Amino acid sequence: MWSEYVQRLSHVNPEFTYDDVSDWNPGDFAALITAGLLYEVERATHVVCDACPEAHRERVRWSSNGTRAFISCPSVGTVDVILERLRRWRASPVQLSTWLAEALALSGAVQPLPDGRLWFLGRGCVAGHTPYFFLAAIEPGQLPSAVAEIRRAYGRVTGVLLLPFSPAEPVETDKLQVADLGLVVSLRAGRITVDSGFIGDQLADAKTGGVRHDAQGKKAPRALAAHRRAIMKAFMTANSLVGMDALARRLGASKSALYGMVRGDKTRYRDDTLNAMLNKIGCPRSKWDRATKPAARA
Ligand SMILES: [Zn+2]
Repeated sequence: MWSEYVQRLSHVNPEFTYDDVSDWNPGDFAALITAGLLYEVERATHVVCDACPEAHRERVRWSSNGTRAFISCPSVGTVDVILERLRRWRASPVQLSTWLAEALALSGAVQPLPDGRLWFLGRGCVAGHTPYFFLAAIEPGQLPSAVAEIRRAYGRVTGVLLLPFSPAEPVETDKLQVADLGLVVSLRAGRITVDSGFIGDQLADAKTGGVRHDAQGKKAPRALAAHRRAIMKAFMTANSLVGMDALARRLGASKSALYGMVRGDKTRYRDDTLNAMLNKIGCPRSKWDRATKPAARA
């Protein structure tokens, strides 16, 4: 549910239909509404036919007295639409930015950037650093322009950019660390919580030039760490796991070990633990150790 919510934030219009949310846990759904992270908008004008297997989208027509909604289906004919199915909700990245600033105990007021889908959340203390925090409700292709926008407004600050995805390809973000909301943020008991350990690790990596050495003395640069985070994220999405705690429980490993595996920090885990973890998520070791874009020269 949370991962679906986060993914939808990358859309220009982050809306959910009744069909989208109908299988969500009612308590989680109510928590999103109460937190203002989701709000109801006007009824849908189109709906997917549920009377035949074609899943075609049709314009909703109304009876003259406005009490009955229906669509036409080429195979079934006129199909009544349950009014509940026309309800829609929209995610609120504005409200999310406020909750994130509070969960991270950031100082300063949340400020929207001119771009419209970017927010400065404030500055906070994480693992001995005081980075600037930003939220971008964007899709992967918009990341370079979002980074440029932050640079224009705040200069080359050390920062953390929270995103609704894990970049599949390494993106030049300089002193900005990108963090996937689906990995570092969870909604528990109606409250937003942020896994600052994961963020702190990324900042620590940035401080050392983003380079770690594994037992073979090979470098595990940021591109490889990003590649590994994307592998974990894909497993979490496929298994509806929300947050690193849930992933750690599922894999029977500590969060600290998982962060270490991402960074290639072998002081945090044993080799057989890594192999067992990869076995559970169905990822071959060769894939784990290879970045999407390997360096031209090793
Ligand atoms: Zn149909």
